Amino acid sequence: MLRSSWQTHLNDRLAQRREAKLWRERPILEQVVRQRDFASNDYLGLSDDPRLAEAQAQGARRFGAGAGASHLVSGHLSPHHELEERLAELMGRPRALLFSTGYMANLGTLQALGDSHTQIYQDRLNHASLLDGAALAGARSRRFHHRDLGDLHRLLERTPADSRRLVVSDGVFSMDGDIADITGLARTCQQHDAWLMIDDAHGIGVLGEHGDGCVGQCYGTDQVPILVATLGKALGSAGAVVAGDELLIETLIQFARPYIYTTAQPPGVASATLRALDILATEPERRTRLHDNIHHFRAGAAALGLPLMPSTTPIQPLLLGTSTKVMAWRDTLASHGFLVGAIREPTVPRGQARLRLTLSARHTLNDIDALLDCLGELVSHEWQGAQGATNS
Ligand SMILES: *Cc1c(COP(=O)(O)O)cnc(C)c1O
Repeated sequence: MLRSSWQTHLNDRLAQRREAKLWRERPILEQVVRQRDFASNDYLGLSDDPRLAEAQAQGARRFGAGAGASHLVSGHLSPHHELEERLAELMGRPRALLFSTGYMANLGTLQALGDSHTQIYQDRLNHASLLDGAALAGARSRRFHHRDLGDLHRLLERTPADSRRLVVSDGVFSMDGDIADITGLARTCQQHDAWLMIDDAHGIGVLGEHGDGCVGQCYGTDQVPILVATLGKALGSAGAVVAGDELLIETLIQFARPYIYTTAQPPGVASATLRALDILATEPERRTRLHDNIHHFRAGAAALGLPLMPSTTPIQPLLLGTSTKVMAWRDTLASHGFLVGAIREPTVPRGQARLRLTLSARHTLNDIDALLDCLGELVSHEWQGAQGATNS
């Protein structure tokens, strides 16, 4: 049978990916052993909390399993609206708008704000959804060096005169775990009449006095006019929110196509997130335990001489360098039941492949020690391997 040009093309692409050792697979988990899961973004251990499941079931019984329509038609139900009000309050903003996913929130916000007269400046390590949003907007987009305000300043000075400026950064960087310099970014933006958008997907629920993230109630809308947070990480459910003033939110409702042309998230999901917000407020000990776990892991990993990165957040990458080494370590850890992320190009630059370990309030110090024992064996094997190579 003659192969179509499509089949040839796609087979070639897949073969290239396999050869480059970048093939990706989806592990099927029957039941996750959460104590050994160091890969999820479930930082507060809420995703399988029975109280969230119960709230979701109640929401579904009361409002239906699905929303039935988009927000502007007849899908904007009372749990969605209540959730927007609660999130606005947590994030210290006048208003908030619920999206079905963080990816869509970023696409929608950048598409609604940007056009060919918009110059968008992105930190080099920003999340893929932010880069894709700038492309969808048809805006001109440039990247500045990671956390480099001097580089950003230089680029802003050269903005074409007919352009509005928008600076975009992750709050907590999802592959490195470090935190943006919000004060510095806000000051630089004010100097250049630019708006600042922060995507705090990994900060919400984890950082800040109230779990309000790295921006939250510390910075007003005059400093950070556009604040995004996702609800599928620390908050344990799904969806995302964009928070800001009336002008921003109405602009999004009128113009954000990924908001307008999609079915509203299932109302039970919003009910579950509302329950997660209650728990966030009443159980601050979860955040304390999480931060204790981060300290414990870093102290142990440093003692083993592991290649830690400068991160104070639950995201603790080990910079191993090559994809081959990352996959070997990942497989050994998996054979002991530990799940960790293996991050390779194109997600991170070549030569910066890493294991991405994430800590959660659900881990005990014993769980972390068990992981450190396994990492310690990997280090000592490598050390013996290196000596063997020198001796032979
Ligand atoms: C996870 C993530 C997103 C996407 O959020 P989803 O709700 O999973 O679509 C967006 N931005 C950042 C920085 C993220 O880490």
